[in-house]
Amino acid sequence: MTQAYQNYIDGQWTDASDRARTSNLNPANTREDLGTFPSATRADAARAIDAAQRAFPSWARTPMPQRGEILTRAADWMHARRDEIGAALTREEGKTFAEARGEVARGVSILRYYAGECLQPTGEVYPSAGAATFLFAERVPLGVVGLITPWNFPCAIPTWKMAPALAYGNTVVFKPAEITPLTAWYLVSAFEQAGLPPGVLNLVVGRGSQAGQELVENGQVKAISFTGSNQVGTRLAATVAQRGGKAQLELGGKNPIIILNDADIARAVELTVQGAMLSTGQKCTATSRAIVTREVANDYRDALAARVKQLRVGDGMQSDVYMGPLVSADAEKTVLEYIALGKNEGARLVTGGEKLRGGEFENGFFVAPTIFDNVTPDMRIAQEEIFGPVVSVLQARDIDDAIALANHTRFGLSASVVTRDLNLALRLIREIEAGVIHINSMTAGAEPHVPFGGTKASSSGLREQGKAAREFFTEWKTVYVDPL
Ligand code: NAD
Repeated sequence: MTQAYQNYIDGQWTDASDRARTSNLNPANTREDLGTFPSATRADAARAIDAAQRAFPSWARTPMPQRGEILTRAADWMHARRDEIGAALTREEGKTFAEARGEVARGVSILRYYAGECLQPTGEVYPSAGAATFLFAERVPLGVVGLITPWNFPCAIPTWKMAPALAYGNTVVFKPAEITPLTAWYLVSAFEQAGLPPGVLNLVVGRGSQAGQELVENGQVKAISFTGSNQVGTRLAATVAQRGGKAQLELGGKNPIIILNDADIARAVELTVQGAMLSTGQKCTATSRAIVTREVANDYRDALAARVKQLRVGDGMQSDVYMGPLVSADAEKTVLEYIALGKNEGARLVTGGEKLRGGEFENGFFVAPTIFDNVTPDMRIAQEEIFGPVVSVLQARDIDDAIALANHTRFGLSASVVTRDLNLALRLIREIEAGVIHINSMTAGAEPHVPFGGTKASSSGLREQGKAAREFFTEWKTVYVDPL
């Protein structure tokens, strides 16, 4: 019998008011059902918000070091179960076990980092015009915050929102993506086991248009931290702004790797493959455009095609698999539509391009790793986020052209440059429009203690992670103390 999971509201595991349940199916093998999950309604989300509102005064007064200890205990609980949580993540999302386990380890590091932040200064003392005035400004929590997250990093993204939100004294209602609720269940269980008081962290599993919309519209929710698609994010931010709330958006990307004449081609190929094919290309920071200078374009394309043909695709629980399935039937349909579109637009399919069928692929959402070349800058496959294992190779005439091509998109999340030339690297760091730049490493990858986010249409609002997260999850209170 499959397990029936519940929402977590006010410290209680509880059914949704709507009795409908959704099965959580393994995208590598849809015959495997990982359990059924509730479909939280707006009323359930409103109850969770009320519980978080009631819990706020006491949590905000809880000494920060004590909050930090709870984060440490949650980290210990997750670390002890990293294999179990990693396997659950692979089975519900599809990425390989090595990547999933790495993601859980990253969640643990994030929790430990913010436990450490609980011992850092919370404000600043200023000189005052008054001779005896003690003038200081302190960062104070906002109140109830709503966290709305996507399915592609079901452990890391919720953790990098939840850890600072809780550390800085907010209470939380967490609405994970409806297709990856099991990892969310583990995360919330970690805090339950760590002794977090009731109501401080609430979980509502359900559709964005129901539970999510309540978080967006409910005036008790002071801030929304959202990661997901541009379409949902920009609409949601307008609603939150209209009611005076605060919103932070992390959205899509169309990230380039730029390969210059002096690049080591084998290294450039490896970085392209890692950036584009790990997590089956379903990272906001995935490499989706390869911009290569003309002199090395053919060598690079041939080496890339040869390497991509070797990649083993399959169930991410098998240790020799490099790339797992796409997350869902919808995701598979979208990726196949973009591949068809690329062919119609006149790009040349170098390798891949088809759904994998039969045998181990029969009950999963597997698409072959795909490379297009002869891609021109205005083709839709060079402009739109595909969110799958598809790379568009564009040729650049020279450095100026490479920079222009890199910036010729509405997105600006991450970019990677492969070169040994320090002067060129420094120029590209200055001129490429991206929130995160990698020199000689892949476009994906973000360490937990530094700011993360994009520019242009990839992000809006304050940055996430590191000390930057404090800006979003707190506000200033300025205090003048004078003697009588
Ligand atoms: P999505 O926008 O479909 O869903 C994200 C979340 O929003 C889900 O929890 C969903 O239920 C919720 N939602 C949907 N409609 C809503 C509504 N009306 N009100 C409130 N909530 C609503 O995105 P997705 O398909 O889960 O994720 C993929 C997208 O996320 C890609 O575009 C990817 O680039 C982006 N992403 C960005 C980053 C980043 O840091 N920039 C990281 C990971 C993913």
